[in-house]
Amino acid sequence: MKYPDVKNFIQGEFATSDSQRFLKVESPLDGSVIAQVVMSSSEDLNKAVLSAKAAQKNWEKVPIKERVQVFFRYKQLLKKNVDALSNLIVEENGKTFGEAKAEIEKAIELTEFACALPQLVAGEVLEVSKGVECRIEHWPVGVVASIVPFNFPSMVPHWTLCNAIALGNALIMKPSEVVPISCQRIASLLKEAGLPDGVFSIVNGDKEMVEAICDHPGIDAVSFVGSTKVAKLVYTRASSHFKRVLALGGAKNHLIVLPDAHPEMTGSNVAASMSGCAGQRCMAASALVAVGQTDHIIEKICEESRKIIPGKNLGAVISAQAKKRIEQYITEAEQQGAKILVDGRGAKVEGKENGYYVGPTVIDFVKPEMAVAREEIFGPVISIIRSRSLEEALAIENNNPYGNAAAVFTQSGGLARQVMENASAGMIGVNIGVPVPREPFSFGGWNESKFGTGDITGKSSIEFWTKLKKITVKWNPESRTNWMS
Ligand code: NAD
Repeated sequence: MKYPDVKNFIQGEFATSDSQRFLKVESPLDGSVIAQVVMSSSEDLNKAVLSAKAAQKNWEKVPIKERVQVFFRYKQLLKKNVDALSNLIVEENGKTFGEAKAEIEKAIELTEFACALPQLVAGEVLEVSKGVECRIEHWPVGVVASIVPFNFPSMVPHWTLCNAIALGNALIMKPSEVVPISCQRIASLLKEAGLPDGVFSIVNGDKEMVEAICDHPGIDAVSFVGSTKVAKLVYTRASSHFKRVLALGGAKNHLIVLPDAHPEMTGSNVAASMSGCAGQRCMAASALVAVGQTDHIIEKICEESRKIIPGKNLGAVISAQAKKRIEQYITEAEQQGAKILVDGRGAKVEGKENGYYVGPTVIDFVKPEMAVAREEIFGPVISIIRSRSLEEALAIENNNPYGNAAAVFTQSGGLARQVMENASAGMIGVNIGVPVPREPFSFGGWNESKFGTGDITGKSSIEFWTKLKKITVKWNPESRTNWMS
């Protein structure tokens, strides 16, 4: 196999497991098996937790200004290795080199934010009564776990690891078993940057390991990113053990296109949003609500979509099963009377005939009750629902159970404002198809796209990764006192 066995990372070393259960890692580019990953035992998790617990006690005593020095060095290592790290993502996930590189660039931005954390957690102090001072300090939660999905093998792990560790926690990562190789490189680079052993660990596995993490008494907080079905399971299970939990789920992002939208810009933005990373983004445009006479804009969307060629500027979807599922959604919509304007079914790439490719697909005259309008497809597909008014379009958007992102395309400030106020989503775009907030703003959806309070990145994540200590101090007994002293 092209890559060595994917191992756990415990106490600063790649560790073998007593488990005999392995899964094959396939490259979606051509279906070849490139590695195998161990499905760890509960004993492996115990070892990781013990090591993390001991390391965390020392790590929290290191002043934060010193802790973040590791991330200053780590950022340089990410920059130095950007091409190799990107190529690895291409191979294990199937995205294009440009998309993979953007993922590493985002990981660098997340690392930079962590480097700035000392400026944001300075705490507060106030003389609350004569001679009496109250102060607030941020303390780490302890040993924390991060469970991540397949679609961003490097960026999503960086959403949690940089901030959690810089804030004094020890983090145990459970990579996606589908794309576990990138996390191996992350572990090596963190070690090279000088992170003490045990502060970052990896325990590979699938459903069983996720359940073991939720149940383990030595883990104080669990963050999860993945589908809504599993987010709900993780939220419920880990909360039942009184852990702090933040679980991000799936999405069905609606774009509302108004007749006055700039046709070229809307065409290219919508096509890029629905097909970027082969539509396997929780921020991808998935349903487009076209208000009134918008045929000229839909034509532009189709024109731009036809320029997106599988194997050239469009990557593969993650598995044969995913390809089949996506194509079934398209066929079912067609059978129910929707019109396929651009058809990505049966895409083949020369020389990569065994790769899992689906071309960009634009489906028009979709009814809100059809599966393509309601469910997360997670492929390069956009479903167009025609509507008569902005009110009706907003009702369609509000009616979907998810709430990650929503966007409006218009040149009218007043109409954009209506969408900003009334769309039921955590992240809103105006003339932007993928409205990911950049640091220091935080990332997180609403409704069935997120369970738990606060967001997973940016300033909001500080609350999740720390607990507040409130200290009241009086030193001078001779000082004049009042009733609060
Ligand atoms: P997934 O839910 O299948 O898997 C996510 C993690 O959960 C993996 O580590 C996996 O091992 C584990 N898992 C899978 N099934 C499980 C089960 N039954 N019990 C316990 N653990 C289980 O998600 P995925 O297919 O890897 O990723 C795609 C999904 O992630 C999409 O729904 C996408 O929208 C979502 N996602 C959301 C965000 C966000 O920010 N909201 C970001 C990225 C991806």
